[in-house]
Amino acid sequence: MRVALFGGTFDPVHRGHLAIAKAAADAFGLERVWFAPAGRQPLKPEGTPTAFADRVAMVRLACGVDARFEVSEVDAPQEDGSPNYTVDTVARLIEQGTGERLFVLVGADSFLDLPRWHEPERLLGLAEWIVVSRPGFSLHKAGQLSASQQSFVAQGRVHLLESVHEDISATELRTRLEQREDCHALVPEAVLGYIREHGLYRAE
Ligand code: ATP
Repeated sequence: MRVALFGGTFDPVHRGHLAIAKAAADAFGLERVWFAPAGRQPLKPEGTPTAFADRVAMVRLACGVDARFEVSEVDAPQEDGSPNYTVDTVARLIEQGTGERLFVLVGADSFLDLPRWHEPERLLGLAEWIVVSRPGFSLHKAGQLSASQQSFVAQGRVHLLESVHEDISATELRTRLEQREDCHALVPEAVLGYIREHGLYRAE
């Protein structure tokens, strides 16, 4: 089975996330895409994200659009409050023998940031990668990728999927939600309903 781990803060999940998961699933014949909200994202220390349970619930609703999509709690908050490192999650999935072929799905911005992640060299080698284009982030400018990232691209372990142009970010979306703008084009209806019901993303 071809499976992709799609980690993120998902605060909240948006149509950009769904579009990139669909593009990756179609292009690489993925049978499952696991959307895994992170309990505590090590590189986003500023500000507290929306409660994990709410982010999971919104992702679960969003995943209803495609039978290949599932929410996963592999990155649930740790008991001692420590951050969730992708390298540990992927290693654990491999140990548990989940998926014959495991991909890690990320946007171009995240992949460019990878050298700052925990144990990037080890993480790069653990799975295959699908890196999806994101407006404003180029993978091709000289010096953007580290030597080991380039070498994994050359070995065919990193697959670039550059047909996606989704100009949506959760940060911008939160601002729009706070300002009570119409966000139907950016967020699935069921997720908007959840946000309304639970009073999320309201200005203080
Ligand atoms: P924020 O604006 O708060 O950084 P985000 O929109 O990037 O949030 P995340 O939950 O941090 O959302 O992203 C999860 C994953 O999805 C990351 O790998 C990110 O690169 C990717 N991603 C999110 N939005 C897009 C997009 N519009 N195009 C391509 N990749 C995206």
